[in-house]
Amino acid sequence: MPSHEIRSAYEAVIGLEVHCQLQTRSKVFASDAVVFGSQPNTNISVITLGHPGTLPKLNRTAVEYAIRMGLACSCEISRYNIFDRKNYFYPDLPKGYQLTQDKTPICRKGSVTVRLKDGSHRDVIMNRIHLEEDAGKSIHLAGEPDTLVDYNRAGTALIEIVTEPVIRTSEEAAAYLTEIRKLVRYLDICDGNMEEGSMRCDANISIMPKGSKVLGTKVEVKNMNSIRNVQRAIDHEIDRQLNETEKGNAIFSETRTFDAGNGQTYSMRIKETMNDYRYFPEPDLAPLVVSEEWLESIRAAMPSLPQELHRRFVNDYGLPDYDAGVLTDSRETADYFEEVCRHTKNYKAASNWVMTAVKSVLNERNLHINDFPVGARELAGLISLVDSGKVNHTIASQKIFPLMIQHGKSAAAIAEENNLLLQSDGGILQTLINEVLLSNPEKVKEFKKGKKALLGMFMGEVMKRSGGKADPKLTTELLGKTLKEI
Ligand code: ADP
Ligand code: MG
Repeated sequence: MPSHEIRSAYEAVIGLEVHCQLQTRSKVFASDAVVFGSQPNTNISVITLGHPGTLPKLNRTAVEYAIRMGLACSCEISRYNIFDRKNYFYPDLPKGYQLTQDKTPICRKGSVTVRLKDGSHRDVIMNRIHLEEDAGKSIHLAGEPDTLVDYNRAGTALIEIVTEPVIRTSEEAAAYLTEIRKLVRYLDICDGNMEEGSMRCDANISIMPKGSKVLGTKVEVKNMNSIRNVQRAIDHEIDRQLNETEKGNAIFSETRTFDAGNGQTYSMRIKETMNDYRYFPEPDLAPLVVSEEWLESIRAAMPSLPQELHRRFVNDYGLPDYDAGVLTDSRETADYFEEVCRHTKNYKAASNWVMTAVKSVLNERNLHINDFPVGARELAGLISLVDSGKVNHTIASQKIFPLMIQHGKSAAAIAEENNLLLQSDGGILQTLINEVLLSNPEKVKEFKKGKKALLGMFMGEVMKRSGGKADPKLTTELLGKTLKEI
């Protein structure tokens, strides 16, 4: 562990590169299908394999998806784009080069606002978002000496989202990744699944003396398959660099890999010299010009974004910041909540039901909210039933709600059929009150002598005898009257 002294003398600097696989039906420069789980090497046309004489053709939807993300992050959109060949040899790269955007990323600058645990906000400034193609996959089977390659993924559309070196802590990095994942899901351009590799993050990490204007040598860490692991890798890497510095050792520019098993990073390759990718413009693709009309049509089709919804939930529905955050976690949850609010004016109750009861059922059953058995209108019906005083909240959440999930019937029908409506028949309540008072003569005497706190005990007894269904208002009234009279 680095000493307290070195920790307080240095600060960390982090820049993230995030690759997101775009959910286009075909590849970015070829018509091969993009499907997960096909037999290896079945979605590979001669274009993907880079056979001589084949010509790439740009996928319009991939460009639109990249622009959507750029607009969501307030980037400048490049109107004139060229694609470049990035040349290198690797077995999973059948063409010997990757098509990417070197000098003209489709989106420049921009920022993403993240919210930290202490409630503060930070703007993470971005450098660029560019479009490129993915490589294939090398497969190392346990116990096999050979490496297998599957080119199905080669040529799949990716966007690479690059931040400036402005992130300061692993918590900020995790919050940024959470926000990026939320955005790509809202925009419906990528499933954001880090475990399956459709969203991948490389973390660049350096340390420098506090307040320095000169950045330290950066180390790039790869192979983290969850946001949590990115956070762990960054924490470990910062400590490692502090330790090395404390020992008087220099930090090398290198690429390291993260081992989730023990939480450590290991050197993969030292970057002794700058990689020379011999970038040059792809001669077989005409420059891509983004017209005003096209850009406007993409802008017009943008869905509501989480921040917008967050503001609306706070301003229009009067919800606390916390609720708005939970409800906008996914677009589907936000949609469901708003749908409930179309049928009830009790927005806070709607929020409470969605955040707690609904969410816990979804978690328990590993369900997506789109498959939640209780419709928004039915949930609103349950809220109205409570608000009208016909059932109490406990019965609503413990008895009626679970039955609604099972049977899909309306709350009112379930309450009626199962005899769960509040007991507001004065005659029946009076009988129960009389029973309670008669069986507690000593307590009644004490009450009469001034021990008014016993009222709660009498109430509780009546409630118990009614099976939790006594209308509390009417019961209090009748109980008070009876006690006065006897
Ligand atoms: P490279 O050419 O090595 O890919 P770039 O300048 O393109 O380097 O930056 C790649 C990523 O590394 C960016 O996210 C950037 O913010 C980050 N980065 C650059 N310099 C540093 C540094 N000194 N410390 C931490 N991150 C850095
Ligand atoms: Mg890089």
